[in-house]
Amino acid sequence: MAGKLYLVPTPIGNLGDISRRAAETLASVEFIAAEDTRVTVKLLNHLELRKPMVTYHRHNCEAAGPAIVRRLEAGESCALVTDAGTPAISDPGEDLVALCAAAGVEVEAVPGPCALTVALSVSGLPTGRFTFEGFLPLNKKNRRAQLDGLRREERTMIFYEAPHKLRATLDDLAQTLGPDRPMAVCRELTKLHEEVLRLTVGEAAERYAVQEPRGEFVLVVAGCPPQEEAGDEDAALLRVEQLRREGMPLKAAAAQAAEEFGVKKRTLYNRALESGRRDG
Ligand code: SAM
Repeated sequence: MAGKLYLVPTPIGNLGDISRRAAETLASVEFIAAEDTRVTVKLLNHLELRKPMVTYHRHNCEAAGPAIVRRLEAGESCALVTDAGTPAISDPGEDLVALCAAAGVEVEAVPGPCALTVALSVSGLPTGRFTFEGFLPLNKKNRRAQLDGLRREERTMIFYEAPHKLRATLDDLAQTLGPDRPMAVCRELTKLHEEVLRLTVGEAAERYAVQEPRGEFVLVVAGCPPQEEAGDEDAALLRVEQLRREGMPLKAAAAQAAEEFGVKKRTLYNRALESGRRDG
């Protein structure tokens, strides 16, 4: 019978955050697949555990993944850990889970620390609906394109960011989403120098223009206020009227303007119908 892959979250800074179940799982498996064995051995020492380890990381996952799956298929059990946080969240663990799923190998996730949920919960921003964007692309053009696509995003947005890219990202955020957008800069969560700054995107950009970004960051950014849609809708309505004057049927005009302005087709159609009735 095939073994099982356990996804074992590890602390994102505070060793006290390792759960009893995470520790028991590490103790119970036949081997551990670790992002960096030097990091994981410190955790194992803290737990007074010794375990055979293999590495599984971004640079070897193509060969290491199938090798781990073969051992699982042969009946061994494995715990996947990363340097910090929940495996498979913004790291190659997602590929190993997909390989296991494809091979019919069981995967069990142990819940635990994850930088994105820690940051979201402490951000002071709406948590009911959110979108996790992970790391933005390195390439400036692709990064701006991704942010452009988020201009009208109403959900709270969460980004992971490396310190050396923080300034560029804050500048891009200010240019695409506007400097007045509220955000939380969550730095060194659960660590000695933990800091949560609740400010606007513009204030964050100004602050880090003079202050050297140090440590690990999660950026939580407020979504676009829904009322801004009304402005877009007004502009879209004018476009419908223009298209109608050019002879386009109402339904087609509403569909085209909705597409152009990124507003809801049905709402736009109803508003155009209503204003047509009003104007006689
Ligand atoms: N799998 C991890 C998790 O569950 O959060 C994330 C791995 S990702 C490669 C590493 C990124 O997570 C960092 O660049 C940073 O954005 C964020 N991160 C990890 N630990 C953090 C901490 N203690 N404080 C703030 N951000 C952290």
